[in-house]
Amino acid sequence: MNKSLYWKKNKLISTFAKLQKKYKYKVEKVSGMNANACVIKYDNEYLILINNTTPNSIIPLVVLHEIGHIKFRTLNEKPQKYSYFKETSANLYAVSKLLYIFKFKQKIKILYLTITSEKELYKYFKKNNTVKGDFLYEQFTKNE
Ligand SMILES: [Zn+2]
Repeated sequence: MNKSLYWKKNKLISTFAKLQKKYKYKVEKVSGMNANACVIKYDNEYLILINNTTPNSIIPLVVLHEIGHIKFRTLNEKPQKYSYFKETSANLYAVSKLLYIFKFKQKIKILYLTITSEKELYKYFKKNNTVKGDFLYEQFTKNE
């Protein structure tokens, strides 16, 4: 593993460790979901569900997106009801964490995509993120 990838992976691990402590969430992989991920509140904890078809390249992004919903208290009671404000603020939260870790060169472009098109933003990550998030599952389930 090259030095830069090693640094990025470690940075992701420490970022998620801190967030997991703060927001008390668990992550589980599920099948048959009609989205990349979602978050459910139960008692004082949160369960983040990730679709097993979600590409590894966007796992850090989708998990941080769901943590954004926890942070801003914008959990959807009716998942069918789309809210630009709720979804964009969750994406801005996720992107603000990842720009620092992944050191993408096109920061302005990524911020532009974040506020204009969620679909294009995810497409960009699928294409340009070289840090596959599958190793994170090990960490997410370790603390259970
Ligand atoms: Zn969302």
